[in-house]
Amino acid sequence: MGVDRDTNNWSFDTDIVVVGSGGCGLTAAIAAAQRDVEVLVFEKQSRPWSNTARSGGMIPAAGTRFQHDAGIRETPEAFAADILRKNHHTSDPEMTLHLARTATGMVEWLVDEAGVDLVFIDDFKYPGHSQYRMHAPPSRTGADLVRDLRRAVENHAQAELITDASVTHLVAGANDSVAGVIVRHGTQQERVRARKIILACNGFAGNSDMVAKYCPSMSNALYFGGEGNTGEGILWGQELGGAVAFMDAFQAHASVATPHGILVTYALIMEGGFQVNSAGHRFGDETSGYSEHALAVLTQPGGVAWDIYDESLHQLGLSFDDYRQAIEAGAIKQSQTIEGLARELGLPPDTLSETLKKYHACAADERGDEHGRTDCRRLEPPFYGVKVTGALFHTQGGLKVDFHGRVLREDGNPIPNLYAGGGVAAGISGHGPGGYFSGNGLLTAIGYGVLAGRHAASMIKRGQ
Ligand SMILES: Cc1cc2nc3c(=O)[nH]c(=O)nc-3n(C[C@H](O)[C@H](O)[C@H](O)COP(=O)(O)OP(=O)(O)OC[C@H]3O[C@@H](n4cnc5c(N)ncnc54)[C@H](O)[C@@H]3O)c2cc1C
Repeated sequence: MGVDRDTNNWSFDTDIVVVGSGGCGLTAAIAAAQRDVEVLVFEKQSRPWSNTARSGGMIPAAGTRFQHDAGIRETPEAFAADILRKNHHTSDPEMTLHLARTATGMVEWLVDEAGVDLVFIDDFKYPGHSQYRMHAPPSRTGADLVRDLRRAVENHAQAELITDASVTHLVAGANDSVAGVIVRHGTQQERVRARKIILACNGFAGNSDMVAKYCPSMSNALYFGGEGNTGEGILWGQELGGAVAFMDAFQAHASVATPHGILVTYALIMEGGFQVNSAGHRFGDETSGYSEHALAVLTQPGGVAWDIYDESLHQLGLSFDDYRQAIEAGAIKQSQTIEGLARELGLPPDTLSETLKKYHACAADERGDEHGRTDCRRLEPPFYGVKVTGALFHTQGGLKVDFHGRVLREDGNPIPNLYAGGGVAAGISGHGPGGYFSGNGLLTAIGYGVLAGRHAASMIKRGQ
């Protein structure tokens, strides 16, 4: 692993090599191939189990025709303002706005030109979203998003996806100008010369040493993303003098069913459910954000909590594939009474009943919520519950890039021929877990993917 300096011995040539086949890599490949250049996508794993495939497939964008058709008028500026509010204005404001502006055409391009099946989501809002603006596959799974993107790559004569192909080195020559990659495919190792290289191999959440170094609060947490995401893209960029930013930023999640390991949608909490610990007490404002609230869950006894909600929220949950899987796995418990639910979940019935009464009192506005939540609401029987833990989903810090996704040195100049996007690039989520704004993951993956793919192809066309 690292940067190889031998620029003479090549197995074969291509125009663009994309490292990684998640949302960033696949969209970069489609965008570049549409401009009539040859693209090879190398994917370390044998099956498409990237973070994008595991995700909820929720892609945020303002001002799309889909949002318009839902009767919502919103500008990218308003969308960017929400992102900046969530990260307390710590992300680069110009880059944040650039990505928000890119997202509008990007979502329509995904549907119209890449053939991705997306619907507009207007039945719940994630923390900090002042408007409905998510676009997702009807199943609300990233697996379907990846299926459609892979089909678009496979249908394109100029693009090819090769799985079981781990890129082990970048190859760079004079001035650290990147000239190709070394890829291990089965027992073979090949040196592939390329005019541009796009790093789309996500961040370092699957690399325990890097997590311990940069995000120590997540060192012992369950990692819920793809095992392929071991940080080499960032390390290669650094070896070539690339600057990094926001290395302490990550997205965690406060609601992964345990021990089943299935995501339980946070829509249940945002639309009225709450969380308790093993003593039956609430322990914070769950709506502050599922990423930061994960840390609160992890500091409860046993590092676990229970989502408590009702029938209407259960019905909302049923629109998510993973929630239905959680039911099949037996993770979701139900009872006509809160005390009965407590017994099903192994919680103290009297305390849980008292907690519900307090929550209802706050819903009736008899007194403020002791944890500062402002949208408590009455839950009606039957009641539902599920035991959950906090988990690390992905890191958000990485290589600094410009508006085209080109990797930058500390002096602001690009490293020749090198692009990065998604989890390899510095994100727009500020520091720590609290700046993460739902959708930032796929916005920076697909956004930079499209920007980098188009720019790399147009540079090649211009002979640069
Ligand atoms: C459970 C879950 C739910 C989520 N839901 C959402 C959501 O609804 N909306 C949202 O915006 N974000 C969501 N996210 C975050 C989002 O999934 C990620 O931010 C985004 O998918 C990152 O895309 P990527 O292309 O950078 O990386 P990935 O999709 O992880 O793709 C990277 C690929 O690179 C491959 N790779 C790594 N190293 C190499 C190498 N050396 N050689 C070859 N291949 C390599 C990996 O195997 C992997 O397939 C979620 C994350 C998780 C874990």
